[in-house]
Amino acid sequence: MLSTVVFDADETLLDLRPAMTGGLLAVLDEMRRLAPAAAAVSLADLEHDWSVTFAANPARSMPEVRRMALSRSVSRVGLDAHLDVLLAHYFARRFALTRPFPDVLPALAALAERWTVGYATNGNSRVERCGLGGRFAFEVYAHDNGLPKKPAPEFYAAVVQAAGVPARQVVYVGDSIAHDVVGAQTAGLHGVWLNRDGRSCPPGVRPDAELSTLTDLSAVLAALADEEDLRAQSERPLV
Ligand SMILES: [Mg+2]
Repeated sequence: MLSTVVFDADETLLDLRPAMTGGLLAVLDEMRRLAPAAAAVSLADLEHDWSVTFAANPARSMPEVRRMALSRSVSRVGLDAHLDVLLAHYFARRFALTRPFPDVLPALAALAERWTVGYATNGNSRVERCGLGGRFAFEVYAHDNGLPKKPAPEFYAAVVQAAGVPARQVVYVGDSIAHDVVGAQTAGLHGVWLNRDGRSCPPGVRPDAELSTLTDLSAVLAALADEEDLRAQSERPLV
């Protein structure tokens, strides 16, 4: 019997990209105020600094990677001494702009009666700072108490422990095939793929369900639960 649905955060529930862009634009404004040479630095430069830093440091926490990326950006124009202030500026704006996609709150409301609903992320989008406070039975954050990031099995073990039910009762919903579908399935959970932008599913991967919006999630999960009940019945020994 499926009982628990757990959500990835960034790009699944939270529309993070505009918030990151807004944070970087705020930083760029401040850099230009502090140093005329920053007029030659562009948003694309700051995004590049983030991309290369993130790619080189996949296991580090998001605040650490952001600090390293921004350090690279400010050193372009000799503003190294202002790193802490600019970092605070970035996060203030990034969190002020981070909000759920329009389909999220109705989907969570539709799930509330039938499901235990959890939140589990590799990132630093704390629910109370992103318009989602008070909506989850439990929250799991990578890096809290040294917890490794998805798709590490330890991450999913922590999700299952927080859920308080066997892994096979838990459905994980996310936008990343590797982290949220394959990672969850490998750990014995069900993996539902939220494919908001119409990507192709890689060969050999079979999400337990695929959605382009969370609007249909409640119905899709109900169907998945029925399938699981039938499978469990068919696997029961005949006596
Ligand atoms: Mg995500």
